[in-house]
Amino acid sequence: MGYNVAVDGPAGAGKSTIAKLVAKEKNYIYVDTGAMYRAMAIHFLGKGIAPENVADVAGACQDADVTIDYEDGIQQVYLNGENVTDRLRTEEVGNMASKTSQIPAVREKLLELQRGLAREKDVIMDGRDIGTCILPDADVKIYLTASVETRARRRFEELKEKGILCDFDEIARDIKERDERDMNRATAPLRKADDAHLVDSSHMTIEEVVSAICGYCK
Ligand code: C5P
Repeated sequence: MGYNVAVDGPAGAGKSTIAKLVAKEKNYIYVDTGAMYRAMAIHFLGKGIAPENVADVAGACQDADVTIDYEDGIQQVYLNGENVTDRLRTEEVGNMASKTSQIPAVREKLLELQRGLAREKDVIMDGRDIGTCILPDADVKIYLTASVETRARRRFEELKEKGILCDFDEIARDIKERDERDMNRATAPLRKADDAHLVDSSHMTIEEVVSAICGYCK
């Protein structure tokens, strides 16, 4: 068994930024599980399946093969042998992933892939249900959160930097909707594991958050 650090929290809390930096500092492999749900979403979008159509989504899981690999330490995601890493981070894919990740067949499909990685390697794995469902015996569990206002502001600045015009209220609304879906779904809802350390990054710098989390790790 590898050394396992689980990081869960809502959309936009900075999980991937922080987990990548901790991975570098501690020499762990960073596993981004959201990217796996996003790859499944690309599969459903490609087939023109509506996320409400649970039976078709479940059926389509059978011919989706998601695998991951590392190039210079950066996670690459393959869908049926094709590298889809560059296509994962659009709003369309994110929204589809947020909706289809509620469906048990989608979660079952990715469970073994995630557990297998943690068995073999020292990992810091981020997601929504890592500490509660995927790795209940993780060595360290972190619940990383921030206020809706802070998360929306960070997302707004990130998009502005990319030259993408956007509406702050719309971003905040979108974040609230994702929280609502992630926290209230029947299967593997987002919640803090009882033994997770709560880190609220609303008033912390990136360096402060990284240092706090490294402090919990071996
Ligand atoms: O973290 P990211 O935004 O890339 O995740 C995309 C979507 O996948 C989330 O909105 C969430 O609903 C879902 N997800 C999940 N369980 C995980 C990781 C992501 O349900 N472990």
